[in-house]
Amino acid sequence: MRTQIYIDGQWLNSQSDAYFDVINPATEEVIHQLPSGCEKDIDLAVAAARRAFDDQGWPQTTGQQRAAYLRKIADLIQQNSDDLAKLEVLDNGKPLAEAQGDIADAAGCFHYYANLAEQLDEQPETQIQLTDERFNCYVVNEPVGVVGAIIPWNYPLLMAAWKVAPALAAGCTVILKPAENTSLTALELAAFADEAGLPAGVLNVVTGQGSTVGHALAAHEGVDKIAFTGSGAVGSSIMSQAAQDIKRVSLELGGKSPFLVFDDCDIEAAVEWIMFGIFWNKGEVCSATSRVLIQDSIYTKVLTRLVAETKKIKIGNGLDEGVLLGPLVSKKQLDTVDQGVKRAQQVGAQLLTGGQRAAQFDKGYYYEPTILVDVPLDSEAWNEEFFGPVVCIRPFRTEQEAIANANRSKYGLAAAIMTQDSIKAKRVAQKLRAGIVWVNCSQPTFTEAPWGGFKQSGIGRELGPWGLASYLEPKQITTYMSNQAWGWYIQP
Ligand code: NAP
Ligand code: MG
Repeated sequence: MRTQIYIDGQWLNSQSDAYFDVINPATEEVIHQLPSGCEKDIDLAVAAARRAFDDQGWPQTTGQQRAAYLRKIADLIQQNSDDLAKLEVLDNGKPLAEAQGDIADAAGCFHYYANLAEQLDEQPETQIQLTDERFNCYVVNEPVGVVGAIIPWNYPLLMAAWKVAPALAAGCTVILKPAENTSLTALELAAFADEAGLPAGVLNVVTGQGSTVGHALAAHEGVDKIAFTGSGAVGSSIMSQAAQDIKRVSLELGGKSPFLVFDDCDIEAAVEWIMFGIFWNKGEVCSATSRVLIQDSIYTKVLTRLVAETKKIKIGNGLDEGVLLGPLVSKKQLDTVDQGVKRAQQVGAQLLTGGQRAAQFDKGYYYEPTILVDVPLDSEAWNEEFFGPVVCIRPFRTEQEAIANANRSKYGLAAAIMTQDSIKAKRVAQKLRAGIVWVNCSQPTFTEAPWGGFKQSGIGRELGPWGLASYLEPKQITTYMSNQAWGWYIQP
């Protein structure tokens, strides 16, 4: 495990000389200490990223050159995937099999953006057909500049990859601020960048608190863009700060995503996908389908099967065989989830299973998978994220009612539909106000497809070509081609 931050191609102690504890959520043990970065570290990192961008030629490299670095990083992630997956389990608590999937996806993301970097070389200019033929116009795409990437703790290395890979592919330089809860693999990423020979200053990683290093990064005038994933409250404050100097922002801010289960669905498949949609990664998923709407004629049947299967979920240390639900990431998250469930019950929600710390463990932030029904439509539980393994369920009668309730949210990240009627699926999918709609599944995520939300779930899209475009500035270059004098001030 690393003990230093990575700035300008060097491993350094923080200028603060302070450290914070890294806690294993499965055991509550302090397993390591990492530098608690400060504003001065951010100043150094931004200065390094600026030099790499402004003076040292990173934006002028070819897409092919940048692709070579990205592929080396991807290969190093793959070669070290066992160790990285274990670090992720120690830091976040997720089951090992899930962590292994994350690491493979992170490597895949670097490979994908390597290919897109090369495609930038193939089409360096786009000719624009102007109606005024006296002019010739073409468009080039240039990197946005220095990027501050601030990421959450639910998919530590993968969220880093979603931002760092497209930013580097575009020719940007990056300062990455991982979440304090889960910073171990971000520093490994810095080590891979170093081993891959990435030029100094192109990627910098500064650990520490959001309120100090995160804030300093978002406020820094040397940063051209902030790419953020996390809570709505912090996203909003980052946007306000960005308004001071018109920084670009892209925000990915979670949701309260609905899952519509129609009575013509395959009930066993519905139960599986409802569980996957809320218990996978302990429900610490921005797109978790945490509001489930079930058609009344199958409501009891689905609930009975769901409760029975949920009670069988093996809770435990993510490193143990067969575990499907690890500890929540932190004591704070455990308390937030538990208090939210208690408040839901106080306003009338009924608990079908779960609703407490898992009693079989005397250490670790384990919470039972939880099912709440009769959750009032205007309650906090129905409208706000738990960000834990807690699903809220209500019945519906008609398609129209289901769509209305699904859309009755300030969020719009994702939605899911279970039905065997493909025409209905298409009709409903078109009416749902969400950036991602899953049909007969929930949560599968693909590097090639756009990821992001409507409404208060964020601004912009990650992944696919959209993810690359958010790190590029289009520039038009227009030439006056005519032999005729312009003749406005000076008459020919
Ligand atoms: P958060 O506070 O928004 O944290 C996300 C990232 O922002 C972390 O790296 C955090 O640093 C940093 N940060 C915190 N305050 C900041 C500030 N003032 N300026 C700049 N950066 C700052 O989220 P959280 O507290 O970890 O989780 C709270 C809730 O956010 C969750 O319950 C969930 O609802 C939501 N969340 C959403 C996602 C998602 O994928 N959309 C992911 C995680 C959480 P530190 O953590 O190191 O302080
Ligand atoms: Mg931790």
